This record gives sequence, C-alpha cells and structure tokens, in this order.
Amino acid sequence: MENLPIRQFEDKIVETVDKNPVAVIIGETGSGKSTQLSQILHKRGYTKSGAIAVTQPRRVAAVSVARRVAQELGVQLGEEVGYAIRFEDRTSEKTCIKYLTDGVLLRESLSDPELNQYSVIILDEAHERSLNTDILVGLMKRLVKLRASNLKVLITSATLDGEKVSRFFSNCPILNVPGKLFPVEILHSSERPKNYIDASLKAAVDIHVKEPEGDVLIFMTGQDDIEKLVMKLEERIQSLEEGSCMDAIVLPLHGSLPPELQVRVFSRPPPNCRRLIVATNIAETSLTVDGVVYVIDSGYVKQRQYNPSTGMYSLDVVQISKVQANQRAGRAGRTRAGKCYRLYPSIVYHDDFLDATIPEIQRSSLAGSVLYLKSLDLPDIDILSFDFLDPPSSESLQDALKQLYLIDAIDEDGSITSLGRTMAELPLEPSLSRTLLEANECGCLSQALTVAAMLSAETTLISGRSKISEKKRKHIPSNLPDGSGWGDHIQLLQIYEQWHRTDYNVDWCKDNNLQVRGMMFVKDVRKQLSQIMQKSAKESLDVRTRKGRRESQQDYKNLRKALCAGYANQLAERMIRHNGYRTIGFKSQLVQVHPSSVLRTDEEGMLPNYVVYHELIATTRPFMRNVCAVEMPWVMPITRKLEKLNVEKLSGGFSEPEKSVHVENSDLRKENSSLPKLPDDHD
Ligand code: ADP
Repeated sequence: MENLPIRQFEDKIVETVDKNPVAVIIGETGSGKSTQLSQILHKRGYTKSGAIAVTQPRRVAAVSVARRVAQELGVQLGEEVGYAIRFEDRTSEKTCIKYLTDGVLLRESLSDPELNQYSVIILDEAHERSLNTDILVGLMKRLVKLRASNLKVLITSATLDGEKVSRFFSNCPILNVPGKLFPVEILHSSERPKNYIDASLKAAVDIHVKEPEGDVLIFMTGQDDIEKLVMKLEERIQSLEEGSCMDAIVLPLHGSLPPELQVRVFSRPPPNCRRLIVATNIAETSLTVDGVVYVIDSGYVKQRQYNPSTGMYSLDVVQISKVQANQRAGRAGRTRAGKCYRLYPSIVYHDDFLDATIPEIQRSSLAGSVLYLKSLDLPDIDILSFDFLDPPSSESLQDALKQLYLIDAIDEDGSITSLGRTMAELPLEPSLSRTLLEANECGCLSQALTVAAMLSAETTLISGRSKISEKKRKHIPSNLPDGSGWGDHIQLLQIYEQWHRTDYNVDWCKDNNLQVRGMMFVKDVRKQLSQIMQKSAKESLDVRTRKGRRESQQDYKNLRKALCAGYANQLAERMIRHNGYRTIGFKSQLVQVHPSSVLRTDEEGMLPNYVVYHELIATTRPFMRNVCAVEMPWVMPITRKLEKLNVEKLSGGFSEPEKSVHVENSDLRKENSSLPKLPDDHD
C-alpha cells in the first residue's frame, strides 16, 4: 500500500526512530499507522534483533489488521505476521510482526518483565485511552530506561494530545502525518430526535434515494440497536420500487460479529451497489472502511462506567465527546468530499459535548490492574504514586486494594500474597482466578474451570437476537438435573456437562439454542485454562471432565464455596421484607436478582440468605447478574475481614482523609436485625 499518506514519511519516521528511544506519531485515521508502520520498520531491519509488537485495545482490530498485513506481505497469517488475543494465539517461531491486544502484552511482561523478545513496541490507538494501554504507557517509561539501547517505543494516535504524551516521555519527538482528508459538509438537525434509530433510518433512506453513489456509515450505540436498524433498513430497501435507485446492501459492524461477517465489510461491493454500514464506535478509528462518503452520527455511545463507592457498573448510552464527533465526521472524507448528518443541533455539540472522552482508567474497576502492578514488584513504584498519564481517583485505587484484600490477593499491609502472585498469572479477572485456586483446594477444579470458561464466552453462547435470549436462558436446556436452583454458575456448569456427555454434539447445541461457535470457544478456553493452571500450580491438579459421571450435590456445594472465596468482594445479604438483597462491603444498597437468573426460592418461597454475584449492573434498577447461593459459615470470615479492614494500612500508609469503606445504612441494618448476628470467631 505504497500510496497511503504514511508512506511519504517513511524516511522521516525511520530517522526519528533511529535517533530516539520513544516517539509519538499522530496521523489521521486511515493514514496507515496500524498497517504500515510495522512493515516500514521491518523493511528497514528492525526485526533483526527482535520482533515488532503492535498493540490494539480491541480484539477484532488486532485480528483484522494482522490479517491485512499478512495479505500485503504475501505471507501466511500466523507465520511472519501473526496475532495474539486472549485465548487465541496465532503466532509461530517465525513471527516477526505481532499484533496483540494491550492486555496480552501486559500479561507477557509478567513472565518477561523487560519484554526482551521485542525490538520495537508500538502502542497503537493510544487515543482510545483504554485502561491497559494507559498502564502500558506508564510501563514503557520505565522500560526505555532499562533497555535504552535496544528498545524503540512508538505511541500512535489519531487524535491524542501529542504534547501531553511527549511531555510524559521527557519531550520525545512528535511526528505529524497529515492525511489527505477531503472536505466534509456537516449538517446538524434542528432538534434531537425522539428515537435515534428511526431518525437514522429516515436519514439513510433519504441519502440512498437522493444522493449520488458512495457508501453510508451509520453510528449506533451497540449490537441491539444495530440489529434493529439493519432489520428496518433491509425492509425499507426492499420496499423501494425496483429501478428507482441503485442496489443497496446493509452490513452490520461490531466487536462480536463472527469473523466471516466482518470480512464482508472489507471486501469490494458489487458494481452499482451502495453499502449501508451500521456500526458501533469501532468504526470511528479502530477499523477503517474504505468508500464511505456519507456519515450519520446519532451523537451517542454506549459506555461502561464503574462506581467505586457502590461497586456497580452502569452501561449507559451517553453523549459522545467533540473528539469522537469529529472522528465520525472525518470518516466521510477519505474517498472524496463527503457529508456528515448529525442528528443533533450544533448548540448541543458546542455546549453539551465534553471536549475529550473520559479515559477508561477513570471509569473502571482497577482490581485487575492493581494486582498486575503489585505482581511486577517494581522497586521504585508504589501503586498510589504510579506514573499514570491521567491518574485514577484515590477512591478507585483504594476500592481496588480493598477488593484484592478481601480475596486474599494482598495482605493487610497491602503486600501481594503468594496466592495473589498465582492469581496474576491467570488470564482472568482476579475473582475468577481466586475461584479457581480455591476450587483446587476444595477438589472441584474441573467444575470451576468449566464455569470460568463459560463466563468468558457468555455473550457468544446464546443464539438469536440478544434481547429475546436473555429471557430464553431461563429455559435452556430444559431438562437440567437438580441443582440449577443454586444459581447461574451451577446452571452454566450443567449446560456444559450435558454437552460434554453428548460428545460435543453440534446438533445438541442447535436444539438448545446455543451457538455452536460459542460452545466450541468455551471448550477451547477451558482446555487452555487447565493447561495454564497445570503450569502455574506446583501440586498435581484434577482438571478432567468425566463422561457419564453426574455432578453430585456435594460437588455443587464445593463449587459454591470456591465461588464464595473468589467473589468475597461481591457479596449480598437478603433483606427480610424486600425480598431483595443489600450489598456487603460497599456502601450498602438495595439490589435485586436479575430477571434472567435461575436462582430459585426454597420450599417456603424464600431466596437464599447470602449470594455472591459476578456483576452488579444498573439498568432500570441495580441488578446482580450471575448469582450463586452461598452459606453463612463461608461468609463469616469475609465479614470479619471487613470489620478489620484498614484502608490506610492497605494503601501503605497513604494519608488521605480517612474514608469509611464499609458505610452502614442504619435503616437497612435495622430491617435486617432478625438475621442471625455473625459471631466474632469462626474456626
Ligand atoms: P490507521 O491505523 O492510520 O487508521 P490503517 O493502517 O488501519 O490506518 O488503514 C490503512 C488502510 O488499510 C485503510 O485504507 C484501510 O481501509 C485498509 N485496511 C486496514 N485493515 C484492513 C483489512 N482488514 N482489510 C482491508 N483493508 C484494510
């Protein structure tokens, strides 16, 4: 791809990299940063002393860009050019250009802290400000000092504030690669539509009927909206009189699209046919679709936001930032002059939109990242003063420390435990890692591996459209043995066990509304997890799933106990009068079991007294998703730990005005006074 803008700067780039350990490269989306930089440096000999790593915040981008580069170089994917994403490694001894998610590179640094296999590390898409890329930026600062003579770091971005990153790296050079962007006419609507799906539909059909050729890119907030709009668009296009306008095809584009459908977006459309691409913000900068002339921007994005005082995630549709709005508009000007239809007035853009998107580090739970940093044993780094590009709040760092303490990953002084070290090595969130280790002690590792694998693939398990499926899950498969009343984890285990007994039969999946691809992925993840466990555990493990053998109530009990240890930081106690729960350990709040849960009441119609949950999510109300019943004797040591908790000590004497982490709500307490009081000692 010699004609991409970045190619004209080849000499300048190589000269800058030769002379400097770190450089920032700013270039318009589509200028060739992701696909060309690695090839340029490879051509100029940088792969002689090690491989080139290119990180991507999104799995789908890592795969798609690697595939493209392999194609351009005329090599087999997985040989000279490969990719590594969680649970999928397509690299070999030969690989010298490796695309990988930022999370995978972080994990690699645990076994090779200086990342010596790489001669160049490119942190791509840094403007996305993903949590893992932000942590990598901090680590690179250290690494370039340690490996000054033989490591080159490039930080690339479409919109990032280059000055800020340059200052962070002692004023490293910034290279600007001007793109050839054609003018884009911006058209604002006079008011916000009541329904942005219908408004997008109307705008898209208007463009198709009235405007000259050129593809249309429509930004929606998520898979649900995309599916709805794709369906409506297909109906409308079909109803148009034949011959009245050119042909059209409607294509969805989002992160969980199967690979064979993703490819369609990159292949050329048939002649005289307009493509209507309905995408999430993945098409803002991660994936560049050529041929787009018209953009429809709803002005919204779906964003996960974590609240460290309640431990709750909300998945909200929020307004995009000005930077995002400009990126979206820019997609219309890559081929020729284009148009961007903003479904909001210009005053909303100017007055309501934030200038830039809030970095993920300031809206995520940091337990996994803090455990990772602790396990690096960096002598010069104390977590609370780690050099972040934008620091997280001390509240969320303290929340992370508290979570890690409750699951025994750190001790009361904040030092990492040996359990914590093993947990950090597993490619899972800390709670699931802790569950696996406890399960090993309880003799139910095989079952816990299955649950961990099922949870890792949950979104790809159920066939059909997602909304309907949430409800459907209660009924599949219909003939599960007794025990699923204990909650969703046990049900996930039973689903897999049944499939295992059919010898992984494909028709069984179809008959039970389960996606074959999703279930195969679970099987593969399970296998990988058990291999990793075998490698990291010193003692022998029993990870076999035994055919013909039915899980007993004792197995379920052991598994529930392991889950209780793993999710000690996500515990809830039943409220007598509300038939709901209150969370323990966070600011007390009323929460409900999610309607999709299979947790059942006992003969007296009562829900279990204590449950652990995988996730607390605020939709219409605060809901616990994936719930498992646990027993009081397992809960007692946790509540005792909570009573002893001293956040200041955990933070290594960090002196902030003391905040009470376990805020009691007196009304809730009063109501629960009929519950048994927890004794002080427990054997
Ligand atoms: P940047 O990283 O600067 O946004 P890229 O290197 O991703 O730019 O894209 C450069 C060009 O390569 C674009 O024209 C884009 O459409 C094309 N391209 C990137 N990935 C693929 C792919 N998987 N298949 C086909 N074309 C691709």
